[in-house]
Amino acid sequence: MEKSGIFSVRSAYSLGLKLANLDRSQASSSAPDGERKLWTHIWTGKKLAKDILPTRRAKFIRKIETGDQCTLCDREMENSFHAAVSCLQARGLRLAMREFWLLPDEDQFTYSGPDWLLLVLDKCSPVQRDLVKLVLWRAWSTHNNITHQSGPTSIHDGVQSLLSMGSRHGKQNINPASKRVWMAPPAGWCKINVDGSFVESTGDAGVGVVARDSAGKVVFTAWRVLFRCASAAEAEARACVEGFRLASQWKPDRVIIESDCARITQAIQHGELEWKISLVRRDCNSVANDLAQLARRTVHSAVWLGQAPACVMDIINSECNLNT
Ligand SMILES: [Zn+2]
Repeated sequence: MEKSGIFSVRSAYSLGLKLANLDRSQASSSAPDGERKLWTHIWTGKKLAKDILPTRRAKFIRKIETGDQCTLCDREMENSFHAAVSCLQARGLRLAMREFWLLPDEDQFTYSGPDWLLLVLDKCSPVQRDLVKLVLWRAWSTHNNITHQSGPTSIHDGVQSLLSMGSRHGKQNINPASKRVWMAPPAGWCKINVDGSFVESTGDAGVGVVARDSAGKVVFTAWRVLFRCASAAEAEARACVEGFRLASQWKPDRVIIESDCARITQAIQHGELEWKISLVRRDCNSVANDLAQLARRTVHSAVWLGQAPACVMDIINSECNLNT
């Protein structure tokens, strides 16, 4: 029998790891990718809990490194806790993930001694526990990728990968404060939302564009089917180009373009082009998204001035009402 709550958590955790190890030895090589990734993060979690990840501190102790300071932030010694939790990149990743997942409060992520991970996980719901492990695992991988200049290193890549890995759990644990709505532009401005739709298995693709004024009134809608499109990023980029092309053709005075593709908005924001573009959440970009799917499904392209097809009118009206 165990005397304290912490011990029972510790035992449950070790039991979980033992079972995981047992299952792992039985798991066939045909395990799907997602499952293999899950094993990776369980292994990392075990090493993280024991502070035996190959950090600068660990290498310094074994005299492989000459120092143990974190080379990313230069603020603290790089042990397992620092790399996965307190380094600036790890904090940035958690901050970004809070937009999507209900993670424990930031003050829970403090070093309370060798059992810090058990104590953090003890306060989580079962679903939250899996999400926290995923976020810590990803923070460590990103730290490692930056240090060794290999693999994805940006917070955006981390967020995308976590959202795809945690989609099974994340849906039950979505941060309710994170739901956003489309916002009308200021008076005198026209806002153009653009989106691309791409199906990898078939290569079918389309783009959708909707331009609205400060009262939420439709200036134009457009959708275009894309042939020979190679990727989702290309569909997003071509949606932006379509938005700019229509904007220059119909010449509204001042234009804001909104896309939910971070790669595209960053490329344009950091380029030398005199266009204004902002990144929005997917839930603020529903009309453009539906139009892109319409183009792809119907293999059809069109531009409508001052009106929108019936399939998106409900969303347009609800977004218009939310803004008045
Ligand atoms: Zn650091």
